[in-house]
Parts: sequence; structure tokens; C-alpha cells
Amino acid sequence: AKKAIIIGAGIAGIASAIRLTQKGYSVSIFESNGYAGGKLTTLQLGNYRFDAGPSLFTLPHLVDELFEVAGKDPRDYFNYQQLEMLCHYFYEDGTVLHAFADQEKLIKEVESKLNIDSKPLKEYLNHSEIIFERTRHSFLEKSLHKFSSYISLDILKTVTSMRKLNLFETMHEVNEKSLNHPKLVQLFDRFATYNGSNPYKAPGVLNSIPHLEFGIGSFFPTEGMHEILKACMKLAQELGVEFHFNEEVKTIQIKNRKVTGIETETGIHTAELILSNCDVKQTYKQLIPNQKAPEKTMNQEPSSSALIFYWGIQKSFPELDVHNILFSDDYKKEFNAIFDDSTVSDDPTVYIHISSKIVSEDAPIGSENWFIMVNVPSNQGQDWEKLRLKVRQLCIEKINRILKTDIESLIEEEDYLDPIRISERTNSFGGALYGASSNERMAAFFRHPNFSKVKGLYFAGGSVHPGGGIPLCLLSAKIATDLIPNA
Ligand code: FAD
Repeated sequence: AKKAIIIGAGIAGIASAIRLTQKGYSVSIFESNGYAGGKLTTLQLGNYRFDAGPSLFTLPHLVDELFEVAGKDPRDYFNYQQLEMLCHYFYEDGTVLHAFADQEKLIKEVESKLNIDSKPLKEYLNHSEIIFERTRHSFLEKSLHKFSSYISLDILKTVTSMRKLNLFETMHEVNEKSLNHPKLVQLFDRFATYNGSNPYKAPGVLNSIPHLEFGIGSFFPTEGMHEILKACMKLAQELGVEFHFNEEVKTIQIKNRKVTGIETETGIHTAELILSNCDVKQTYKQLIPNQKAPEKTMNQEPSSSALIFYWGIQKSFPELDVHNILFSDDYKKEFNAIFDDSTVSDDPTVYIHISSKIVSEDAPIGSENWFIMVNVPSNQGQDWEKLRLKVRQLCIEKINRILKTDIESLIEEEDYLDPIRISERTNSFGGALYGASSNERMAAFFRHPNFSKVKGLYFAGGSVHPGGGIPLCLLSAKIATDLIPNA
């Protein structure tokens, strides 16, 4: 069989491997780390288990599809449940909004807590669905670019109808116009962070993102997020994918504008096809430095990164759910700090994820595993030790203020993740969570396509088309492998 080599065992690398076996390729994955998953990995601290990276699971059918293309029943490999509660939102003035998945309950909650008419919210959620449905086929589910013309005719047609899709206003402008309460505006502005962007700059078309949660639903695997990875790994191994761990790829070998293989510490490994799951900027810089890198891609502003604290907490908090947000009082200031000043504001929004609310084995009885996340800029040489200590203190103060507790005295286990660790552990440029940001109106077009000018070299992962986050990574694997002929 023809040989395919995949660089990186991130979720898109593994998904691509599964799909390539179905195209008749013999597939090997080379991974720098001693483990698979890249950003989607797990962490054990004493008696507490944490999902180290992603915590929000949407569009689960995209994972199921990997099993289905291989003729397997996904339910033989992993399971998940739909969440009835999307998120608990806490505001500094004491307001708490429970975002129910059920629209009727949500409407009642908003009407009673904010004392407003819910019609604008209903219309907003409908509009979110309309944008999602109109853009998914042209933007998310196929290659935006043609080999010949870079941008396809189909896309140009979509662009010309963009006024309706709010491409010419920012997310925040649309939200402010559409929603009748500043607390709802903030709640829906937050969805810009789902791809590491700034709602005050990102185009209004991204207001399709809330539809993922409010329309289609938020899900959670029975054993936590790492179960997604475990299940995909099991399938890949059954299909004969060969994993080479602790084996960093140093260069991609190219002859006459065509790939011939890769080089690692153990030597040259030949292949007819190479798919890079390594960050696209790093692929150009590190692995093919002699090839001309597309400037648009290389100059794109990175998405935000994150500071994460993993805390084993010796208490349980019934007022918290699986997903919780403690909002900043000045959202604009928070995003200015991240994207204009490359720092963190004095009152950042704090996200608390507690998987042990569902997966009871993740924490001892009466305790909880807290994953605390604050959005921060990508690494541009800031003093991360200093910023981390500052943010840790701000998180403690905010949590104490809002939950009326003394959280520091309850921390039994602790670790952290910062942009430096993210870039060291996953080779992502600047530790960005989602590749490039979508702060520019045309950012979607500047993402690198899933193919390249070098014959036999393809890309899948969060830094290329259509974008970051597990669902889009899985779509990138589908689009990339659909472009590849059968072996
Ligand atoms: P990555 O996970 O980036 O992995 C790339 C792999 O390639 C790594 O294992 C790396 O070691 C390997 N590699 C790189 N270079 C080489 C080389 N030269 N040789 C060999 N191997 C190499 N997404 C969501 O959907 N929901 C969320 O809630 C969410 N929250 C997040 C929170 C955090 C803290 C982080 C970090 C990310 C979050 N994301 C979330 C984003 C999501 O995790 C990523 O978009 C996705 O996991 C990226 O997958 P990927 O396939 O691009 O590869």
C-alpha cells in the first residue's frame, strides 16, 4: 500500500489517520511527545483527574463519523450525554443567569432575572441558526480554496450575500443592536473567545457560534474529554495506524516540488504523502524552511492563549455546574488588554470547569476538580511568571467575592498551564489555542488551506482551514483527506 506519514498525534492528526486508512493508505504518525492528543490531554494530581485542555464538547456527530466511516459503531467505543445546563453565568452585581439548554426554560430565566421582554433573545437565537446554516456548507465543510484560483466561485457568491450575515459589523455591534440587555450582550460577546478572538473586532458572522450550544447542544463524554481521544486512539490502532512516540520530525523531504518523506532522529522515513498536524506557521519555519511561506498566513494575528490553574478543591460548591463563568465588569477593557496591550486586565473573566460534577471518579467524595481558565494573549515574550501570579491572585479574589468563600485555603492540589507550556508541549505558535484569530473581517480566507503548493503535502489541525477547536479540527481532517486521492 502507498505510505502516508502524519506529523503530530493531535486530534486532527489521528482523525486524518483514521480516514486515510479507509482510502487504502498504510499510515504512520510521528509525535514529539510520549503521548497522543496534543492539546487534548489529561492530567492526574493526587486523587484528582483533570482534562488538561478542551472542556466544551459540541457537534459530537463529527467524532461519531470517524467510527462510522470505518464501519464501526461509535457507541462501542465511547459515550456522551447532552447537558441540560449550558453554563452558570455570574456577574459582579450578584446576578446569576442559568443558561438552560431548553429554550423555554432559558426564556423564563432571562425574563425573571433581567426583567426584560424575551422576544429579542428568541429572534437572536433564530438569527444565529440562520447564519450557521448559511455558512456551514461553504465555510466549514469544504475547502475554501481551489488549487487553481485560491478562492472558489462558490465562496465569492457567499461573500456577496454577506451583508445579511453581518460580515460588515463586529459581533459586539450586532449583539448591542439585537439584544435588549447589557448582560445578554456580554454573554453573547463571549462566544468570540470560542475561537480565540475579540468580539469588538471579529465579524458579526461569528454570532453563528452560539447556535452550536443553544441550538444543537453541549455534550459531555461519560469519562470526561480525554475519552474522545482514547476512543479515537483505540480505533486508529485497530485500523493498523502505526504510532511513533517521542520522535520529533525535523524536516519534510521534498524533491522536484513533491514530498518524498520526513527526517527524524532515527533517519529518513519515505512516504508518498505527508499530512502535517503541526501548527502551520511552525511547519513552514521548522520543517520546510526552503519553501516560500504564504505571507497572509504567516502574518495573521495569533488567537488568544490561556492561563489555566488546575486546583483540587476540598469542598463541593452546589451553586456551580460543569461550566461556569465569572464575568469581568469591563469586558471591553479585558479584550483591549489581551489584543491591544498583550497583557491581562485587572478584572479578567474567570471560567471554572468542573468535570467531577459529571464524572464522580475525577475527584474524592466531597471534593471537586477545578479547571480555572483566563484568556490571555499569545506569547510575545511577556514575563509569564509575573502575569501568572497576578492572574492567580485576581482569580482568587474574584472567586472569593462572588462565591463568598476562602478558596485558597481549600486548594489541595495545584498545577498550571501557560502560553509557554502550551507552545512547548504542542509546538503551537505563541501558545495560541486556535491558530490565528478571526479578528479581521476576512480572516476566514487567510487561514491556510488544507493543501499546499508542494505535491503530496497536506495540512489538518486547529491552525489551518476551517479553524481551531475540536469540531473544526475534525472538519479539517475530513476536508484534507477528501482532497487526497485513494491509494
Ligand atoms: P494539537 O493538539 O495542537 O497537537 C499537535 C501535535 O503535533 C502535538 O501533539 C505536537 O507535539 C505534535 N507536533 C508538532 N510538531 C511536531 C513535530 N515537528 N514532530 C512531531 N510531532 C509534532 N477546543 C474545543 O473544542 N473546546 C474547548 O473547550 C477548548 N478549550 C481549550 C482549552 C485549552 C487550554 C486549550 C489548549 C485548547 C482548547 N481547545 C478547545 C482547542 C482544542 O484543544 C484544539 O483546537 C485542538 O485540540 C487542536 O488539535 P490539533 O489537531 O490541531 O493538534
